[in-house]
Amino acid sequence: MPDTASFAFTPSLLLTLAFALALTAGFVLKLWLAGRQLRQVALGRAAVPTAFADHIALPAHQKAADYTRAKLRFGVLEAALGAVVLLGWTLLGGLDALNQALLWALGAGMGQQLALLAAFALISGLIDLPGTLYQTFVLEQRFGFNQTTPRLWLGDLVKSTLLGALIGLPLAAAILALMASAGQLWWLWAWALWTGFNLLLMWVYPTFIAPFFNKFVPLQDEALAARVQALMQRCGFAAKGLFVMDGSRRSAHANAYFTGFGSAKRVVFFDTLLRQLSPEEVEAVLAHELGHFHHRHITKRMAAMFALSLAGFALLGWLSTQVWFYTGLGVQPGLVGLVPGAAAPPNDALALLLFLLAVPVFTVFLSPLFAQMSRAHEFQADAYAVAQTGSGSLASALLKLYEDNASTLTPDPVYVKFYYSHPPAVERLARMHAGAAA
Ligand SMILES: [Zn+2]
Repeated sequence: MPDTASFAFTPSLLLTLAFALALTAGFVLKLWLAGRQLRQVALGRAAVPTAFADHIALPAHQKAADYTRAKLRFGVLEAALGAVVLLGWTLLGGLDALNQALLWALGAGMGQQLALLAAFALISGLIDLPGTLYQTFVLEQRFGFNQTTPRLWLGDLVKSTLLGALIGLPLAAAILALMASAGQLWWLWAWALWTGFNLLLMWVYPTFIAPFFNKFVPLQDEALAARVQALMQRCGFAAKGLFVMDGSRRSAHANAYFTGFGSAKRVVFFDTLLRQLSPEEVEAVLAHELGHFHHRHITKRMAAMFALSLAGFALLGWLSTQVWFYTGLGVQPGLVGLVPGAAAPPNDALALLLFLLAVPVFTVFLSPLFAQMSRAHEFQADAYAVAQTGSGSLASALLKLYEDNASTLTPDPVYVKFYYSHPPAVERLARMHAGAAA
């Protein structure tokens, strides 16, 4: 007879069950939401919604529906693959096998830990490669958005891998060193390092890293430059320069953004945006972005990110000392030295990877919260732009961008609640007109 008394819900088993349950629930939720959105977009495909009938032609509307549905179906496939890969790394023992193999090959120490992080990143990148290729050269291509050549794509891949290694490995080494020798409060120091690194990256990225991938030339159109300068002066906003980026080298999707902070702020227009919008509309889009600055949305988002990462590091500080955290996720931590009497191999890189793999499985359920906050910010930025430039140009810019990016006008409301960082077009236009009337 089996000895039932010896069976118990150990912390390790509880973590395994919670992880498997959250992963399954998250995947089912994703499927359900994607199914709702697929149905809703298909239902709306036959006719342009009345609110947009004067502005958007039926073929453009149907292209948006087909593009949205194609992306959704691909997203479901990627989510399924992602769940399988995640199980492979964790409960099925992939990470454990990789760690043991590297311990065997390199012995315990900093070199082995960095090799584990690098090998994990490399293998994950390779697994994602077919999906990225399909997305760029099949999906985006089919709808006429892709402008990338295989040569440019490969160049990007090499550059981003090298940059990632150049920046990522020293950062990882510094965090591992803190984990190993900064004592019980290592996570506080690691968080400070992480925060400083992110601030530095925000400063360095626009001036030193982005030019590796794109050309930035000062805005040549003097009439538009004068218009934009006047708007920024009205809004009390100082920027170092107005730049045009060759976004059209890779994609037909249009955008505009601010980068940097403090006195290093710059305004960047995608060349695709300038081609699609009139000067009045460009001004309105910029006024929307200035609205984000006026309401300190960027600062608030950063503060929220730093607070969440502090909580994350504190949690990791505790979890990394619990044996069940490793065994519950399919990894055997080093508890005893390989050589009798020698110190146990460090588990810091393992703890980092397991944490990065496991946390999103549980936090995915919080996404409506963040999406809601983001949509509220978008409404505020729209209201600011309407106050600065009137509702007409912003509304027409928005309609053009929706049409050119083939964004659906008929999303499912529940899907919107979960995923949309921007409110649906119909809601934004209604608020704009209400705001302009008031
Ligand atoms: Zn915005």
